[in-house]
Amino acid sequence: MFLRFVFFLLLQFLGAVAGALVFPEALRIRGALVGMLTAGLVWVLLDFSRGLKLLQWIRRDDFSSQPFRHGLWGELAERVRRLVRVREHQIEDSETRLHDFLSALQASPNGVVLLDAQARIEWFNQTAAGHFGLDSQRDLQQHFGNLVRDPTYAAYALEADFTHGVTLPGRQSTASRPVRLSVNLHPYGQGRLLLLSRDITMFEQAEAMRRDFVANVSHEIRTPLTVLSGFVETLQTLPLDATERARYLDLMAQQAERMQSLVSDLLMLSRLEGSPLPGEGEWHSVTSLTTQLEQEGRALSAVLNPPMTGPAQALHFEAALPVELSGMVSELYSALSNLVSNAVRYTPAGGEVRCGWIEHGDGRTEFYVQDSGPGIAFEHIPRLTERFYRVDRSRSRDTGGTGLGLAIVKHVAQRHGAELKIESTLGKGSRFAIIFPASRVRRIPQAVAAEAV
Ligand code: ADP
Repeated sequence: MFLRFVFFLLLQFLGAVAGALVFPEALRIRGALVGMLTAGLVWVLLDFSRGLKLLQWIRRDDFSSQPFRHGLWGELAERVRRLVRVREHQIEDSETRLHDFLSALQASPNGVVLLDAQARIEWFNQTAAGHFGLDSQRDLQQHFGNLVRDPTYAAYALEADFTHGVTLPGRQSTASRPVRLSVNLHPYGQGRLLLLSRDITMFEQAEAMRRDFVANVSHEIRTPLTVLSGFVETLQTLPLDATERARYLDLMAQQAERMQSLVSDLLMLSRLEGSPLPGEGEWHSVTSLTTQLEQEGRALSAVLNPPMTGPAQALHFEAALPVELSGMVSELYSALSNLVSNAVRYTPAGGEVRCGWIEHGDGRTEFYVQDSGPGIAFEHIPRLTERFYRVDRSRSRDTGGTGLGLAIVKHVAQRHGAELKIESTLGKGSRFAIIFPASRVRRIPQAVAAEAV
């Protein structure tokens, strides 16, 4: 600044000297004044042209080079350049932060839509696009209510009580595959709205299943309980002779047994759902499993088909393979015995039940139970493993069924990496099979040795 002042004074001095020399001697003072004035004008013009140059430089918006390096104008240019650079960094930072923020919203498993004060779409993530069928090319700046034409949403948005949400059908919802969305609006900023959507289809289905399950269990327990309390009342109020009393007590024992089987099947199912998967380290002989199954199957067949009621059932248990299965023995036995007991229970007297093991070429091993029972209509087959699903209700109840047997079989099979295969022809019979993966089957070491000899 000081130099600039000195330079100004020097220019004034030189202007005065030049003016004094140019003008005649009598007008020397006036000449000096004119010279000083001219020098001042030159100074102002020079400054004006520099100011213009600086302005043009700022307008060009390219701050890579500087028009002045030194002096007042140089400092001004440098300060402008620095200020612009700081602002550019700030904008870059804000953009990066905005980008990160939008990426986080994009990664959200929930749908996110940002609406302006007029409820027009400003931004949405991919999940919301899927939920509402939005297109980023087409639907930005559109009124959200015009795209989601749902009266429930319209009423919700109009009511403007955002303390609760609403449930809407998703864009891809069909009668056979319903999609349910929970939608919540949250006000933010100046009149803006944040819309969050969540797919609650699975949750609603699980909730419905839970309700059905509780209703089914209550129904299954209430029936024997009602019968039991009826008998208790009879025993308390009526004078019965010893034979009648014994008959009543027998019937009561049957109902109590029915409740016991139901509770034990329920416990089994909850254990199967809650316990860790069975390891592959424990091996169990298929022969001993088959012997146990045969004993139990024959005993059940004898109870259900007493000699006086008609011809007995023909039960064939083929010789077990010299193999071992790995897994939880109690679960394996429960699954296999459910299949045997179903075949025995649903096959009428005089019918035939055949059980055995088959080795597949790829190392898998199958346990099958084939019967000549009533068979199952095609449309029932996919639903047989649902809890409490019964095709023949009365036969199931009369023979002590709980409606949970095949649900247990399916769970056990899944836990052991095995597959449950059901084939049936109405009027001809059924074939149930569990196919164990090669990793869970091994030949008994002695048998391998014996074969080698
Ligand atoms: P339940 O205790 O009623 O036998 P399951 O889950 O074991 O329950 O079986 C479900 C239904 O499948 C049964 O109610 C029955 O109608 C049908 N079912 C199962 N096994 C057979 C079979 N071998 N023959 C005919 N129907 C069967």
